Amino acid sequence: MDRIRLKDKEFELFISENEIKDAIRRMAERIEADIKDTDPLFVGILNGAFMFVSELMSYLNGPYELTFARYSSYRGTSTTGTINEIMPIRVDVKNRPLILLEDIIDTGYTMQHVMNKLREQGASSVKLATMLFKPDALKCDLKPDYIGLEIPNDFIVGHGLDYDEAGRSYRDIYKLAVDK
Ligand code: 5GP
Ligand code: MG
Ligand code: MG
Repeated sequence: MDRIRLKDKEFELFISENEIKDAIRRMAERIEADIKDTDPLFVGILNGAFMFVSELMSYLNGPYELTFARYSSYRGTSTTGTINEIMPIRVDVKNRPLILLEDIIDTGYTMQHVMNKLREQGASSVKLATMLFKPDALKCDLKPDYIGLEIPNDFIVGHGLDYDEAGRSYRDIYKLAVDK
């Protein structure tokens, strides 16, 4: 499908399922090389990362521990916004190396807040793996350790990402179409 309609908006094909899966596979190889002889706790960030987490973890093919957390961000117009913890991590993170698995980094505020919080809770290290990264949208001092693909500052859906909760289950990734 080249175009999809979600509610009031049109989206056009941007990244194919194969392209994003290849990027996730390459990321899995980099992570696997780095975590030899460590016992990391992977933390999938719901809801958007569900497909990415499932694919990445299956490519890792190891005994790794995985848990999930969920946050929501309400962004003010010019502030850093407040981040609500909807579903906190249930596992004790003290002295554990964590690898957070996120769908996309935009301003970076959500992950900056979460990573600082987990460091305060005593995690021995907190790394960030993101399926997609919009470098031009970044508004804070955050450097993802693993990036699937860098993309321009467009609004995208699919492969876990939603528009008003619609469109998460498309395997391809679409971007908001410019109206002609
Ligand atoms: P940040 O705090 O980095 O600005 O935003 C992170 C969250 O905003 C992401 O985890 C994602 O849920 C949402 N987000 C950012 N950019 C996009 C986008 O292009 N499409 C969708 N569907 N969600 C996005
Ligand atoms: Mg997210
Ligand atoms: Mg969303």
